Amino acid sequence: MKVELLPSSIPVTEAQFLVSFLVNDVVAVDAGPLGLLSDLARQERVRHVFITHEHLDHVATLPILLENVYSPGPDCIELLGLPDVLDFIHRDIFNGRVWPDFFELSTGANRFVRSTPLTVLEPVERAGLTVTPLPVSHCVDTLGFLVDDGRAAVAFPSDTGPTDEFWAQLSQHRHLRAVFLEASFPAAYADLAAITGHHSTTTFAAEIKKLPGDIRWLVVHRKPRFAAEIAREIEAMGLPNVELVKPGHVYEF
Ligand SMILES: [Zn+2]
Ligand SMILES: [Zn+2]
Repeated sequence: MKVELLPSSIPVTEAQFLVSFLVNDVVAVDAGPLGLLSDLARQERVRHVFITHEHLDHVATLPILLENVYSPGPDCIELLGLPDVLDFIHRDIFNGRVWPDFFELSTGANRFVRSTPLTVLEPVERAGLTVTPLPVSHCVDTLGFLVDDGRAAVAFPSDTGPTDEFWAQLSQHRHLRAVFLEASFPAAYADLAAITGHHSTTTFAAEIKKLPGDIRWLVVHRKPRFAAEIAREIEAMGLPNVELVKPGHVYEF
């Protein structure tokens, strides 16, 4: 399985302002910078976009993406997410003011987008991947995803603070290879992390102990203002199998 955290800074650096992962070029988890890929053919290859939640850093360029890849006909990108999240995206972004209502404009023969509601713990199969929506603990209802190609599985907990069901589900999984876990704040901002449903480096270090085993932990979602401080703190803790994600790098699992 190929996984890339798309870059979201100009010019490309390790600063992460937005969130979008590409899996095997065809499936995306979130659409932060997805509509900014300079190679339009890469945008056109994306067929299924799983949305973890409605926060703007996770859906920012969804309208741009759908416009970029539109061509007349029934083929279109599929959006998958919680029913409420799909509804927020429709009503608050594609509302005919912020952006044209691509949902209303999509008819059977001519579509910009189609949406599929997800249910927690009910896996769906797309593009040779089994994608299981799992609950996490953010300040709004948010899904994490477990993506499995039959040989390797990778987990995307999205935005979350300390959580339990997610790890309980993952612990039953035999070929889990990697988790892209957030660490949004340094230790000094633990209170803010708790209020906003994110990890500080302190809770990050405690959280990874909930899932023992030979798993690669990739640190994502460092708030850019604190990115260097978070990196220093994580390095100082000497945690095994923990590394900072490299935006634009293609990971193979
Ligand atoms: Zn969020
Ligand atoms: Zn976020």
